[in-house]
Amino acid sequence: MRILITNDDGVYSPGIAALAQVASRFGEVRVVAPDVEMSSASHSITASRPVTYKHTPLPFDAYRVNGTPGDCVMLGTTLWEKVAVVLSGVNIGTNLGNAIWHSGTLAGAKQAALLGLRGIALSAPATDREQPNFEVLKPWVAKVLEMLLEVPDLPLVNVNFPARPPRGTVWSRQSMRHYDGKVVRGKDPMGRTHYWFTVVPVEATEEGTDRWAIEQGYVSMTPLRLDLTDHRKLAAVADLERWNLSFA
Ligand code: MN
Repeated sequence: MRILITNDDGVYSPGIAALAQVASRFGEVRVVAPDVEMSSASHSITASRPVTYKHTPLPFDAYRVNGTPGDCVMLGTTLWEKVAVVLSGVNIGTNLGNAIWHSGTLAGAKQAALLGLRGIALSAPATDREQPNFEVLKPWVAKVLEMLLEVPDLPLVNVNFPARPPRGTVWSRQSMRHYDGKVVRGKDPMGRTHYWFTVVPVEATEEGTDRWAIEQGYVSMTPLRLDLTDHRKLAAVADLERWNLSFA
């Protein structure tokens, strides 16, 4: 089985090295990842300039790309045929709830799903002071991957590890929390006005969500889909029908 690995922290991240090492137990591994950090790059694809890659001397077969995680999956699956699964991560920092919208880690896995391949995004908690200990994490990544690669019909899954050695795994849903986003005004050393965007969630963690799972000490696994249609709304046609225009 051919396993393509990407991330949004860049090809030199210890998270991608740990993932490549673990994944090599399950198949043939190739790393195609951004040459610089692309965190929060979301699912952007480089369209206004050419994308190139360079072979990168690392302990695994690795290439660095002057592009986004989405570009890396496009390029990786073109240069290397018959890829079965794309692993994205292990990201330094969780990707829970709303972060799924702007995460570059998720984008790598989503691009795989768009190409009809399997995509698995993996993330681990980090703070300014503390980075994930990937040596401690590796056996857990191995156990989770071993299981997930056996699950049939699972095109896209978002995996988040808890801060401490996990109690097990749980299937969770994406948490949805509204924000009280305050814009805080300040002055820079030159006296110019600048703004900080703050994000304060207004709702507590809900049971059964990705955030709840890792707070309880479990590995969170959220099956995702690419279709963003609100199927419940669409099914309630009567509700929407009176808001139609006719130009006939
Ligand atoms: Mn990142």
